[in-house]
Amino acid sequence: MKDDREWIAFQQRKVFSEQKQIKEYLSALNDRDKVDVLVVGAGPAGLAIAAETAKKGLSVGLVAPDTPFVNNYGVWLDEFKDLGLEHCLLHKYDDALVWFDDSDPASGTELGRPYGQVCRRRLRDHLLKECAAAGVKYLPGLVDFVRHGDVEKNELAEANRGQQFTLNSRLVVAGTGHNRDMLSYEEGAPPGWQTAYGVEVRIPNHGFPVNKAVFMDFRQSDPEAMKEEQDEGVWRVPSFLYVLPVDKDVVFVEETCLVARVQVPFDELKRRLYRRMKRMGMEIVEEDILEVEASWIPLGGTPPVAPQRTIAYGAAAGMVHPASGYSVVNSISKAPRVATAMAEGLKEGGEIEASRRAWEILWGAEPRRQIGFYQFGMELLMSLRIEQMRNFFSTFFALPTNLSRGFLGNRLSSSELIMFALTTFAIGNNELRGLLLAHLVS
Ligand SMILES: Cc1cc2nc3c(=O)[nH]c(=O)nc-3n(C[C@H](O)[C@H](O)[C@H](O)COP(=O)(O)OP(=O)(O)OC[C@H]3O[C@@H](n4cnc5c(N)ncnc54)[C@H](O)[C@@H]3O)c2cc1C
Repeated sequence: MKDDREWIAFQQRKVFSEQKQIKEYLSALNDRDKVDVLVVGAGPAGLAIAAETAKKGLSVGLVAPDTPFVNNYGVWLDEFKDLGLEHCLLHKYDDALVWFDDSDPASGTELGRPYGQVCRRRLRDHLLKECAAAGVKYLPGLVDFVRHGDVEKNELAEANRGQQFTLNSRLVVAGTGHNRDMLSYEEGAPPGWQTAYGVEVRIPNHGFPVNKAVFMDFRQSDPEAMKEEQDEGVWRVPSFLYVLPVDKDVVFVEETCLVARVQVPFDELKRRLYRRMKRMGMEIVEEDILEVEASWIPLGGTPPVAPQRTIAYGAAAGMVHPASGYSVVNSISKAPRVATAMAEGLKEGGEIEASRRAWEILWGAEPRRQIGFYQFGMELLMSLRIEQMRNFFSTFFALPTNLSRGFLGNRLSSSELIMFALTTFAIGNNELRGLLLAHLVS
């Protein structure tokens, strides 16, 4: 048994020696250096915004610990292809399957949408090469605090790490993931939590088709709480199985709690995973485990105060989809627009105008209208029992694909989101309609 904090530290401290150090790609940024834009954080979001900003002709410094990408990212193939990143995939799947319950056809339901598993090394390598080509400089380390100077007096921002370094820049972008210390957020509801426990494991002839990902498999779930417990308001937070086959004998299987008010403990998810796999006739043997993943993603919560002098980007900016936990495609695809806003803002109005323009893209009026809707969806999901969740998703995946894919990809405008809601209501069964109405009223 491990405490959840140990699981999170375990995930963050993974070592992947095949991923080169950042300092092998980028030239050095030194203590007391001055740049136009300082990006804090070297996850997918930080690297993407650093590269795109430098491409606009601004001098860019990157500061972050020299660590590898550790998460196992999944993406929809069409979206990754549109970004020109197909070469950064480890596995491509012709389709993604779902099973809502044990009575579904044995072969599952095809979503008709190819899926991909990102190769962490290749994606990081690609983004770092983009940074290098555009001249981004790098200093390894953690920033303790950022202080913004008085622009009237031409004072620069200062990012500081005790005695170790002080860096100066006109703009600071915090791509610090779930570390929100450098930013201010609005008061309000706490986030929901997505938690998942997965293993890449050798299971000879596991039986999952190797050319298909499994997006959601509710088969062989643990039974719901006993009737008496349910009467007392006790119910099991739903979880499902997510599967990325590696080959016919190796598979990544992950027990996922999509979103909940509570953080389902990793040990509980692990027990559920092992029991489910056993019931499916695929026992997980400890010695055959190749990698363990403990995934912990805050979802939703209040947006950052916008505008503020420090610009947030990626998970720190609330760019994680509140109902799916995905952000990689969103962060990479928005980077050119945000970089342009910063470059033009600096040129045409100065530091405050540049951060205002960047924040307008991230959290202007339209993104705020959209997020209200996504939050509604997230709150609804958090209130669902497993049967209700199965019902919800069987309706969701029966929606016209422009709506279901647009919703998952954060691409629906606020008016399209209204259409999404009305269509869900129209094609849902009476139970789902009742749930939607009750949730709306509450
Ligand atoms: C296990 C797991 C699986 C996930 N799977 C998916 C998926 O399949 N698809 C998807 O789209 N999303 C997924 N997500 C969600 C989300 O996309 C990821 O968390 C993603 O890594 C967020 O990118 P980011 O660059 O914003 O932040 P991170 O990747 O968390 O990077 C943050 C960076 O900031 C640095 N940093 C933090 N504080 C400081 C500081 N004070 N000073 C300097 N540097 C600092 C960190 O060292 C790191 O370099 C997953 C998340 C987890 C945890």
